Amino acid sequence: MSIDELENNRREIKKITIEIIDNVKKRMDLAKKIGDIKQRYGLSIIDNEKERELRSSIMDYSNKIGLDPNFASRLLNLLIDESRRLQSKDEESITPTQIFVKSKELERSGKKIIHLEIGEPDLDPPIIVGKALNEAIEKKRYRYTEAAGIIELRDAIAKRLGVEYKDVIITPGGRFGVYLAISLLSYGDEIIVIDPSWPAYKDCARLRGVSVRTIKSKEDDWSINLDNLKDAINSNTKMIVLNYPNNPTGKILDEESMNGIVELARRYRITILSDEVYSYYAFKEYKSIASYDDVDYILISSFSKAYSMTGFRVGFVVSNNTSYLKRMIKHQSIALTSVAEPMQYAALKALEGDHKVYSSIMKKRLDYLAERLGAMQLSFYKPDGGMYIFAKSRKEDFNSLKFASSLLEKGVAVTPGVAFGEYNNYIRISACNDEAMLKEGLDILEESLR
Ligand code: PMP
Repeated sequence: MSIDELENNRREIKKITIEIIDNVKKRMDLAKKIGDIKQRYGLSIIDNEKERELRSSIMDYSNKIGLDPNFASRLLNLLIDESRRLQSKDEESITPTQIFVKSKELERSGKKIIHLEIGEPDLDPPIIVGKALNEAIEKKRYRYTEAAGIIELRDAIAKRLGVEYKDVIITPGGRFGVYLAISLLSYGDEIIVIDPSWPAYKDCARLRGVSVRTIKSKEDDWSINLDNLKDAINSNTKMIVLNYPNNPTGKILDEESMNGIVELARRYRITILSDEVYSYYAFKEYKSIASYDDVDYILISSFSKAYSMTGFRVGFVVSNNTSYLKRMIKHQSIALTSVAEPMQYAALKALEGDHKVYSSIMKKRLDYLAERLGAMQLSFYKPDGGMYIFAKSRKEDFNSLKFASSLLEKGVAVTPGVAFGEYNNYIRISACNDEAMLKEGLDILEESLR
């Protein structure tokens, strides 16, 4: 090939790329038009059936012309995500964190706020934890550690779960574990999230260019229809995200559903990301993903809720896939070197503490919440675990965001249902306050619902 030919080809590539960009622009303009029509007729932005049809024609066509269909499908995901973004009117979607920040601002301006939106236990960590932290400093344990964490802590966690210490990575909180897990995926890969859901899964996916396919659990008891889950799977699906006990609903899936999900994951070679940070607050039998060994899993857990240690920022990831572990350790090492050494020793000591104290207090409070909320204009599933009640207003025109904002002005913060998906007639109420404070907050809530 001569130099002239090289230049000709480069010019041709530039021309084709401009044509692609022109077509992308045309596609976006059309997507906007479609979005307007969907809005006018109250249609959902996501139409799984139409997406499936489009994907299948694109894959067939790619095969026919000799283009890698997986690449074409990933490219299609990027286009579909952009269309969804254009069609979505709620780009400003509010998160639990934002409500928390707004309530703190009001507090700074002198207003008393009762925090029924909060996602952290108000109780103190076990006393031995503070002592262990001081001791760690005295013993000069304040250096970098291995990126995966100190062996003693990894080993102690591993023993509890019946795995090897090599399968455990200590992370700065469960949230970073979720980030590490989703960061294993590439642009255009897909994850399935079951709504209502803690927003971080979708947020992390967006940050990494990973597409999210959402299925909804059944509103009366938050169970999962396995056919819906199966329908959401396609060749790009890499991960199914589970979170039981669930934030915000408090649901724990029954064993049959768990088995069904694992079976699907196995059949379609999909990894299960199981966020089990509320496992210490399970009020009924609960099966961890770590008890399934013939499916690829990444388990997320944390000391934050279990031992009321949110500010210590210690969590952990467990996986049965050594390649995932290697990549997550490398990512963690690049991003933050290691979790603070004194905090890891404090967490090690926490394992000797009694976590049941926390769950029994939380259960008592949830029972009280349930009793009070039951007498209001709200319906809800009585939680099997966790720290929250996700309650639905019986009013047709209820707007969770407006309601949460106006309640905040009256001195009570709750989280609007829209933070967890399309749940505009729900609010999440947290049990992370003592009963006197809960009572005061619920009195105001009751008054506002009248
Ligand atoms: N997963 C879920 C479902 C959560 O609700 C939270 C905290 N709100 C976390 C993970 C993360 O907690 P942390 O990072 O403090 O461990």
